[in-house]
Amino acid sequence: SGGLRETCSARGYTAWDPTSYCFVKEGSLYIPTVFVSYTGEALDKKTPLLRSMDALSQQAVRILRLFGNTTATKVTSTVGPEQEYFLIDKKMYDKREDLIMTGRTLFGAMPPKGQELDDQYFANLKPRVAAYMADLDEALWKVGVFATTKHNEVAPAQHEMAPVFSTTNISTDQNELAMEVMEKVALKHGLVCLLHEKPFDGVNGSGKHNNWSMATNDGQNLLDPGSTPMENMQFLTFLCAIIKGIDEYADLLRISASSAGNDHRLGANEAPPAIISIFMGEELQGVLDALEAGTSYKSESKVFEIGVDALPDFPKDSTDRNRTSPFAFTGNRFEFRMVGSSDNIGCPNSLLNAIVAGELSDIADKMEGVPADKFDDELKSLLVSIIKDHKRIIFNGNGYSDEWVAEAEKRGLPNFRSTVDCVPHYADPKNIALLEKFGVLSEKEIKARMEVLLENYAKTINIEALTMIDMAKKKYIPTCIAYTKELCDAVAVKKSLEICPCVEKELAEKVSSLTKDAYTTTNKLEEAVAAAAAKDSCVLDMAKSYREEVIPVMNALRAAVDGLEVILPSCKWPVPAYSDIIFNV
Ligand code: ADP
Ligand code: MG
Repeated sequence: SGGLRETCSARGYTAWDPTSYCFVKEGSLYIPTVFVSYTGEALDKKTPLLRSMDALSQQAVRILRLFGNTTATKVTSTVGPEQEYFLIDKKMYDKREDLIMTGRTLFGAMPPKGQELDDQYFANLKPRVAAYMADLDEALWKVGVFATTKHNEVAPAQHEMAPVFSTTNISTDQNELAMEVMEKVALKHGLVCLLHEKPFDGVNGSGKHNNWSMATNDGQNLLDPGSTPMENMQFLTFLCAIIKGIDEYADLLRISASSAGNDHRLGANEAPPAIISIFMGEELQGVLDALEAGTSYKSESKVFEIGVDALPDFPKDSTDRNRTSPFAFTGNRFEFRMVGSSDNIGCPNSLLNAIVAGELSDIADKMEGVPADKFDDELKSLLVSIIKDHKRIIFNGNGYSDEWVAEAEKRGLPNFRSTVDCVPHYADPKNIALLEKFGVLSEKEIKARMEVLLENYAKTINIEALTMIDMAKKKYIPTCIAYTKELCDAVAVKKSLEICPCVEKELAEKVSSLTKDAYTTTNKLEEAVAAAAAKDSCVLDMAKSYREEVIPVMNALRAAVDGLEVILPSCKWPVPAYSDIIFNV
């Protein structure tokens, strides 16, 4: 609870949230509720989300009034979260203590084949996976989750489910429920659904693409640019508010996607980089450039010609997609791609709503008193100044490249590489000021969340390190000692028969030396964990110690054991190998 709810004063209150659906699961009626402490602080993720939706609605309606819209009374933030996951055989899972304890593999040498052929992505669904997906759809529909899209993902054994979007509140509840149902339906098929951000090293990890927009209660998607975006000043106002907000509060967005699991993805050349930037696309970039330069921009409707008589020409999107951008415009919404696959999307959406509410409120404050005859010119000059001051956040190139990291640094964009680097910024004065202004989170609620995030980080790494120590001591090292003995026995027998024992001797030496590495590193890891755990008087120091002192030793232990795995016969290796797990469904 981050100090919000001590065990000695644990009273808490729930209240029915009538804006999300009740559902029947396993014979019981479930009612979505908020959860607050005796002293009135939010203990949940729903309360801040609902507060942020109210704030966004109020500020967005002010903007709509500026453009003469008198009918819309409410603006709702919408989200469609694409959920990535891995499916593996339960029999393999049961043999891996690391998967059971931590949700990810802590050891495992690379198999001969990974995802380099992209053949999983483009392949048919395997029959067991297709049967799972069909069952999953039914199970999700029964509890009211709008599951619709299902497909293979890039890594072997990786897949995706996406629902039809809804309000950020309903979608968040549905996503929590979906994750539970995904895990349960897998078990019925003898499978395990892994929602961890990085179950396997060397292949892609999993995220949750948070497709976000705003809709009015009179039926407009506020991020729909229409056919002539240059003339659509209302759209450009909302767009500029988002550009400014993402630039000013990049740290908050990064924080909303931070966890020990997601640290393996962000910036690891597969998921979006840890640096926040916005992808605009060709057309909107052209519009923003023209607006800034005071020139005109003509939208062209492009047609795709296939060059086959029997097939029709069809309209082409005004812009391509960019899958390396953490915050990409995708035609009528933004796709925030950083969120981790196991995360609750309540936090990213609360913060996103609050950020945009803040910027809309500033624009409304400036524009509400402006007389009608001056409105267009003043608005244009306001938007131009926003573009000038904040265009550094826009990046339309390859977000995975090293050049971008250097360029982003030149632009002064923050690059928070890990959870411990970014989470302390939650309580920066500008962030407290924004979240308090709209009543989304109080300073006390922010500090509690900060502590929870850091404590959770430290505990996660602690469990992972202890699991590694356990596996090394009880499985890998004894196996390697036994195999070394077998090799040495063979050397002795061969020598007595005057047969050259060179192969056995060389192998025995190799195994023996790597086993020594594994053994000494295990001891080092025990010491590092004890030292980190002892820093519990300050949660930030403790989390930093896990990050800086424990993780490097975990990596070294893994290297030694993975080195042994590729030498030992597979029949002797005490756990299933990567190739047994990810190619086995
Ligand atoms: P892709 O994999 O090409 O990014 P998907 O179809 O898997 O696309 O997922 C897109 C998600 O975006 C879906 O969940 C969809 O409902 C959601 N979406 C579409 N329009 C909106 C919108 N206006 N607001 C929020 N989410 C949206
Ligand atoms: Mg998708």
